[in-house]
Amino acid sequence: MAELPLIGIVGLGLIGGSLALDFTRLGYTVLGASRNQETCAYAEANGFVQQASTDWQILSTAQVVFVCVPMEQVLASVEHLAQVLIPGTVITDVASVKEAFVTQATTRWPWFVGGHPLAGTARQGITAALPQLFKQRPYVLTPIITTNFEALTQVRTLVEHLQAQLILTTPSEHDRAVALISHAPVFISAALLLAAADTPSELTLLAQALASSGFADTTRVGGGNPELGTQMAQFNQVALLDQLERYQLMLTALKTAIQHGNWTFVENLLETTRQTRKFFQKD
Ligand code: NAP
Repeated sequence: MAELPLIGIVGLGLIGGSLALDFTRLGYTVLGASRNQETCAYAEANGFVQQASTDWQILSTAQVVFVCVPMEQVLASVEHLAQVLIPGTVITDVASVKEAFVTQATTRWPWFVGGHPLAGTARQGITAALPQLFKQRPYVLTPIITTNFEALTQVRTLVEHLQAQLILTTPSEHDRAVALISHAPVFISAALLLAAADTPSELTLLAQALASSGFADTTRVGGGNPELGTQMAQFNQVALLDQLERYQLMLTALKTAIQHGNWTFVENLLETTRQTRKFFQKD
C-alpha cells in the first residue's frame, strides 16, 4: 500500500480541526499551525494532531497542506507557506469562495488546488470541530487550466478517503452555485431576523414564546458566524447580488399575488416551490 502523505493544517478552527481529527483517525500524521499556543496545546492534548506550533516552519516536511483560515487570510497564508514549504508540496484551501483566490494562489504556488467542503455548523474554533463532518457531504475541487495534475490527484485521493462526495467544477461555476444554495440563503435568513428585531415591542415577547421549528429552520443560517457571512458577501459579491435580485423578484411576485387575493396563483406558486425543494434537497 502507498505511504500516506504527511498532512499539514493551517488554522485549527471548525474546518481545520475537523479535517485534523479525521485524517488522524484515518492513520495520517497531521501537523498543525495555529496563531495561538493554547490552540496548539489543545490540538495535541486531544489527539487532533501529532504536533502543532505557532511557527509555520513545523509544516516544512508536510506533503499536503490544508489552508483553513478566514477567506481574507487565504492568499496571505499561501504567501507565508511559500516561504516554508518545499517546491512540489501541495497546498489546498477550504474557503467558501473560489474565483477570488484560485488563480492568484496558483500563480504564487503552482501546486495549489482550490477546494471547498460543503459542511459546517454555526460554531467556530477548535472546540467546534467534529469527527466525520465531511462524510457523505459534497467536497468541491476547482482546478483551472494551470492546476498541476499530480497535485489535483493527491487532493482528490484525500477527499475520497474522507468519504466526501467529490465534485469537480470551475471556480466561477462554483461561486455562482454557492451563491444560490448557501450565500443568498444566509442573507435572506438574516433579513428575516432583522425584520424580527424590528418587530413592535408589544409583540416581541409573544413571538419569542411561540417561535418554534419553522422559525428555527428559516433563521439558522442567518444567525450563524457573522465574520463568515461578511466574507461570503465581500468575496462573492457579484454572484450574491445576482441571486438576491432574483430573490427580490420572486418575493415581489408572491407579495403581489397575496395583495390581489389571487389564492389560486399563490397555491400554484407554492406547488412549484414544493417541487423545486424536492429537486434541490433530497431529504
Ligand atoms: P473558524 O472556526 O473561525 O476557524 C478559522 C481559523 O482560522 C481560526 O480558528 C484560526 O485558527 C484561524 N484564523 C482566524 N483568524 C485568522 C487570521 N487573521 N489569520 C490567520 N489565521 C486566522 O472558521 P471556519 O468555519 O473553520 O472557516 C475557515 C474557512 O473554512 C473559511 O475560509 C470558510 O470560508 C471555510 N468554510 C467554512 C464553513 C463553515 O460552515 N463554517 C464551511 C466550509 C468552508 P488558529 O486560532 O488555529 O490560528
